[in-house]
Amino acid sequence: MLKKLLSFIPRSGKKKVPAYSRQVIPRERHTVSRSILSEPSKKVLNRLNNAGFEAYLVGGGVRDILLGQRPKDFDIATNATPEEVHELFRNSRLIGRRFRIVHVLFGREVIEVTTFRGSAADTNDEDDDDRKTSEHGLLLRDNVYGNQEEDALRRDFTINALYYCVKDFTVVDFANGIKDLENRQLRLIGDPETRYREDPVRMLRAVRFAAKLDFEIEPATEAPITELAPLLTHIPSARLFEEVLKLFSAGYGEASYYKLREYDLLDALFPDTVRALDAGEPEALIIQALQNTDRRIQQGKSVTPYFLYAAMLWPALQVEWRKRQDDGESIQPALHQAIAKVIGRQVQATAIPKRFSGPMKEIWEMQMRLPRRQGKRAFVTLEHPRFRAAYDFLLVREDAGEIEPGLGQWWTDFQEQDERGQEKMLSELGAESPRKRKRRRKPESRA
Ligand code: ATP
Ligand code: MG
Repeated sequence: MLKKLLSFIPRSGKKKVPAYSRQVIPRERHTVSRSILSEPSKKVLNRLNNAGFEAYLVGGGVRDILLGQRPKDFDIATNATPEEVHELFRNSRLIGRRFRIVHVLFGREVIEVTTFRGSAADTNDEDDDDRKTSEHGLLLRDNVYGNQEEDALRRDFTINALYYCVKDFTVVDFANGIKDLENRQLRLIGDPETRYREDPVRMLRAVRFAAKLDFEIEPATEAPITELAPLLTHIPSARLFEEVLKLFSAGYGEASYYKLREYDLLDALFPDTVRALDAGEPEALIIQALQNTDRRIQQGKSVTPYFLYAAMLWPALQVEWRKRQDDGESIQPALHQAIAKVIGRQVQATAIPKRFSGPMKEIWEMQMRLPRRQGKRAFVTLEHPRFRAAYDFLLVREDAGEIEPGLGQWWTDFQEQDERGQEKMLSELGAESPRKRKRRRKPESRA
């Protein structure tokens, strides 16, 4: 008994890492079958196998099928080198430097093929050109190849290290992933702190999978997150932009957001937003926008990064805009300056490609144009390429209780009217507005 207890106490200087053993789950004891795989993924697996290589479906593909969900994409792991894979598929591209992989392209479907990576034991070898770590323990490059078991143990979570073989229909589990799937637990393979230091994005992935799968982050995997969250500032901004999109535009953005806040992970992604929220700026618009986005995705509708970013940065914009007005700038130039400032700072955290920052700006600017409808203005606004997004944004602001409802409904009605009806709405507006203005002036003059 004592011996058993002692075996749980880590030896000094060494962090305890659970010992794993390979388990093979035969066809009749799991739910993965070839019929669920996409045609392109089967083609890639078969051609690699026929050429004499090992090849497995791995990662989200296996995990999601075992959970009864449709995988977002199908990733493949093989013992063929990237060059060998590239040679087998004319429709393929070698990509990545930090992590060399092959994309095999079938129309819109991309199959990601990764060569088995070697064990992480010698990551500090400075002379090793294929694997490099930074002073923070960050894995800068990881192109040391290995066998399937080594590959499994350098993946992130146990539930992501399951392999499906199309030759004998087995699922191979190296890290007790099946058990964690059954218990709905997200567990990092190896020592959590080391694994987060190697790649801080794993903290975002923990939160994302917990939100997506409704899994619990098991205590040891959860414990270091808040403390290590600032390491995310070392990650290139372009990679963080991609992670933000995965977090917020895959149908579980609201749940992801709460978890990011809970573990202080939002600070590295949207520092100005967090500062604004902490200073008392309302959060309701962000929540409302994320709920809307989740709903749209459920309904099979498209969502755009610029709408999401417009919402995520709105509290930061309000603070900056108000500050400038308080300093005496008039409302319009203050808005333009504030927009430039907020975007300029945000791109240091997460990149925002120009094709998204332009439309995001327009959504914001149009919030000032939407109330001004007299004369020909409403027609001009309606024709604006960003009208739809700006109008949706207005509705979100109303739903969030940020502004009085009414204007959104007006624009909803205006879009549904024919030209005569629209003219009528505008003339009613023209007749109404002087009275309104008079009413509004009264309390001001009293003050
Ligand atoms: P989804 O595609 O649904 O987002 P996924 O688990 O397939 O989830 P991918 O980003 O497609 O995630 O990665 C495929 C697999 O590669 C993962 O399941 C995991 O095994 C491994 N992986 C991805 N990113 C990392 C990482 N940062 N560290 C370690 N392993 C990783
Ligand atoms: Mg995947």
